[in-house]
Amino acid sequence: MKNEASGSGSRGSRAPKSSTTRRNRVLGTFGVLGLAVGVFSGLLVSGVLPSGLFDPATAPGAHPGDSSRSRADPATAIGVDDLPAFYGNGYFAAGISRRANPITLIPDRPRQEIVRYAVQRGDTLFGIAERFGLQPETLLWGNYDTLKDDPHSLRPGQELNILPVDGTYYHWNSGDTLGAVAGFLGVSVEDILDWPGNDLAHNVDPSDPPLEPGAELVIPGGRREFVTWRAPRITRANPAVARLAGPGACGSIYDGPIGEGYFIWPTTGRSLSGYDYTDFHPGIDIEGGEGNPIFASASGVIVYSGWSDYGYGLMVVVDHGDGWQTLYAHMSQVNVVCGQAAFQGNVIGLVGSTGNSTGPHLHFEVESDLYGKVNPWDYVSP
Ligand SMILES: [Zn+2]
Repeated sequence: MKNEASGSGSRGSRAPKSSTTRRNRVLGTFGVLGLAVGVFSGLLVSGVLPSGLFDPATAPGAHPGDSSRSRADPATAIGVDDLPAFYGNGYFAAGISRRANPITLIPDRPRQEIVRYAVQRGDTLFGIAERFGLQPETLLWGNYDTLKDDPHSLRPGQELNILPVDGTYYHWNSGDTLGAVAGFLGVSVEDILDWPGNDLAHNVDPSDPPLEPGAELVIPGGRREFVTWRAPRITRANPAVARLAGPGACGSIYDGPIGEGYFIWPTTGRSLSGYDYTDFHPGIDIEGGEGNPIFASASGVIVYSGWSDYGYGLMVVVDHGDGWQTLYAHMSQVNVVCGQAAFQGNVIGLVGSTGNSTGPHLHFEVESDLYGKVNPWDYVSP
């Protein structure tokens, strides 16, 4: 468990106390008051104190506002049998906020605070998410500053925010309104107010809530679009857009082979070694050793060849001329140049671990003019 760094991180003093701390405080108060009651009881019985002087409402640790107790007959109010009733009236929890009372004694109550987790060697986004009972999207949404929405950027030693529930994380900016933030993240204002960890009263003015710029809100159920970290679509008709992707961009492209209408498996490795196809990972990570061959999945023209600024490392894009493109990333070596014809099965490069990658594998994407990025498993099998 030592790798699960706990604590509230940057939430600082606004973070709720841990349940253990709270329990200890309750037990401590209980003990002190019990002792005090015992002493008073003894004094009363021995006749040292006049009974009229004992008022539970002014006893040590008592809640000054609890008038029902102060009206009670002292002789019965201090009986040991009454102690649970004291507690049930909130007597012993006087210093604890009202909202926390009902759940103080439940040890496995839902976590409200954000904890920090130090990424270990061998961790994946899915593994960490599963460990904390969260969706992997929640990890990306909670850690944009660290991961930039790119699951490949996960590295040992990074510190991640682990949200207490699935959803998003929002840094409050001056001028924000709760309505606008809720709308942007696809939730209602009540969803934000209802989350206890946000410490917001239900009657706040949604257009001017008491939040300082930089305050961090947990938005249960919140969703947002992933910031595009992927390479733009590159075809032989518009190779210039590849300039956005990095130095591997090609200039004008001449005609070349057309795809066969089907794809072959692009390398010798047959299984996944990393991310499968998801909303935030638009391809599949195929296992492979450094230097394994990468094959053109269908015939076409090389429309990108070289370094990518999007974390793909050395990358090749083949345009198949029939509305389809395939993309091969993290290569150790590129064997083709811009505009070159590639026929299905030709070796276009070698498996590597360049760019945002933690070990040799082939990141493979299939894209259509019509459908955008598609799940490669629907079009090619090992
Ligand atoms: Zn990948």
